[in-house]
Amino acid sequence: MAISNNKLTEQQYAENFSDIHPSFETQNAALVEANRCLFCYDAPCIKSCPTGINVPKFIKQITTDNIKGSAHTIFLSNIMGAGCSKVCPVEKLCEGSCVFNLMDEPPIPIAKLQRYSTESAMKNNWQLFERKKPTGKKVAIVGAGPAGLSCAHALSREGIDVIIYEKESKGGGLMTYGIAAYKVTPEFCEEEVNYILSVGGITIKYNQELGKNISLTELQKNYDAVFLGIGVGLARQLEIPGEDLAGVEDAIEFIYNLRSKGFPAVAVGDKVAVIGMGMTAIDAATQAKRLGAKEVTMLYRRTQDEMPCTQHELDIAMLDGCKIVWLAAPKELKGIDGKVSEIICSIMQLGEPDASGRRSPVETGETISLQVDMVIKAAGQMPFEQLIMDNGITNNKGKITINNGATNIKGVFAGGDAVNGGKEVVDAVQAGKDAAKAILSYLKIE
Ligand code: SF4
Repeated sequence: MAISNNKLTEQQYAENFSDIHPSFETQNAALVEANRCLFCYDAPCIKSCPTGINVPKFIKQITTDNIKGSAHTIFLSNIMGAGCSKVCPVEKLCEGSCVFNLMDEPPIPIAKLQRYSTESAMKNNWQLFERKKPTGKKVAIVGAGPAGLSCAHALSREGIDVIIYEKESKGGGLMTYGIAAYKVTPEFCEEEVNYILSVGGITIKYNQELGKNISLTELQKNYDAVFLGIGVGLARQLEIPGEDLAGVEDAIEFIYNLRSKGFPAVAVGDKVAVIGMGMTAIDAATQAKRLGAKEVTMLYRRTQDEMPCTQHELDIAMLDGCKIVWLAAPKELKGIDGKVSEIICSIMQLGEPDASGRRSPVETGETISLQVDMVIKAAGQMPFEQLIMDNGITNNKGKITINNGATNIKGVFAGGDAVNGGKEVVDAVQAGKDAAKAILSYLKIE
């Protein structure tokens, strides 16, 4: 057993990490699906989209071969509509609410149709928005993730000059650095960011971190308003013995390395345990398998009924050959020569519901043990509490408190994961739009 990189050939990496979303093979195939839509009045699919995309309208536009118009309808509500069509848990959002589900028929493949229009727009570089004349105002945004980019685009369209300060060397935030590469490829992420920037009036300054290279005071002094879209990013620790052994990694760091260093450079074990059952845990487990791990076991302290990931996500992990052990909570990690070699888990049972409304796991007193050479921890992410406190921003356990997009500091707004603690990309896009609206009102541009 050994942790090593370069386990596969170049071709195997390319196959394992290619885009899992098949496009419509022909225009006719897209038309057949679009023509199934009933164009419902008071459509539930619109209501269940956090950005409120007018789904029946963009589908109707596809049926009349107005792909440009269709892409415009989508981007008007969600400028990351192309990326969201790949990463949104549509089975619990738009497609989950499609009326066809009530008739026991497959829902309209909204995400696939959305991809059809938005990818055409990106491929052809259709410019669907025009900037209004300059207002002379400039806004600083911290973070080029979904919230920051969405806020920037909405402000730029209104004639505001936007400078985004991004701590990484690429834009896209979670989309670029925190999601499985087979869902959104690195190339796609770069194209999407470039397409958003092509509206004009937005500059990204890379490798600029708040609290390190730039200060909030400086931004307040130099700009008419500031938006903080700094996300979350600190991995929650397990607080169990052996956590510091070699071969024990945080899932976000593992995925970040995959996305930033390239697949062959990232080491993976032969026998990997992944702790957690959220989307990050699934992405870490499936990618460990696709990097060449022989055995990947996911451990979750509750049951399938309480898992945070969707059934679709779980299916991907199972199709990739990941094993699942329910009702197992890590208790101790043991090692040989400083390297992790065993994980001991308490066997749990479900007790009374906790604050989240889910039945809480209770120890049975029994344990199980697994031989491993790598453990990936995906126990959740925490906000940048210290950074937020250092800047005197009112918060709730590190999550920034806002009132109509505004923080307690005059002219400083916030949104996305930094406020909600970590939701879907589509929620961050909406938060960016909401903040832009609040900033426009603050700057008296309406
Ligand atoms: Fe079309 Fe389904 Fe939306 Fe109705 S709910 S408008 S059928 S996609």
